[in-house]
Amino acid sequence: MINLILFGPPGSGKGTQAVKLAEEFNLLHISTGDLFRSELKNETPLGLEAKKYMDKGELVPDEVTIGMLSNKLDEFAGKVDGFIFDGFPRTQPQAEALDKLLDLKNTGITVVLALEVPEDEIVSRIKERGKSSGRADDLDDSIIRNRFKVYLKETAQVADHYKKSDKFVALDGVGSIEAIAEALKNAVNEYK
Ligand code: AMP
Repeated sequence: MINLILFGPPGSGKGTQAVKLAEEFNLLHISTGDLFRSELKNETPLGLEAKKYMDKGELVPDEVTIGMLSNKLDEFAGKVDGFIFDGFPRTQPQAEALDKLLDLKNTGITVVLALEVPEDEIVSRIKERGKSSGRADDLDDSIIRNRFKVYLKETAQVADHYKKSDKFVALDGVGSIEAIAEALKNAVNEYK
């Protein structure tokens, strides 16, 4: 199996690139943000719980997020060539839970691909996306800044978890979508 993590701040292009990588390597793209938005659209208890945090740009509690992710893995294990995780893991406990879940399926993370984009570029990209994404958290300047702050405070250090095992590649996330896609594809081919 090939199991990839797309890592980086909100607005760094993870979603766009995950779709391309999923197609290239026949992987299931799992975006925890998309899963929460779908739950919210269906007004499920999980979606309504997640909304409390999403509206502030805070992280949904680990137990809720890990439970949802675990269900998704169980649903698709054996049916795909691997997974691409977008927006997960965002905390150390999530990273440890993911290791265990994959271990139970006799597999593991192939490589973590980190997209590096500076904060000002992030804010302008997310605002531009907000014009068409319909996401409340993409429109408000203070929520966008808070999401970046939460990334630096709670998520950035998750990189260390993977650097220890030499499965971490950082790439420049500023450039054309096609050029970045090519760089990501080459990185995966080196690790698979
Ligand atoms: P995203 O679409 O990845 O930007 O996520 C949108 C929002 O969903 C985040 O600001 C969080 O509130 C929530 N969320 C998505 N993924 C996670 C995660 N792995 N852990 C906690 N909260 C998450």
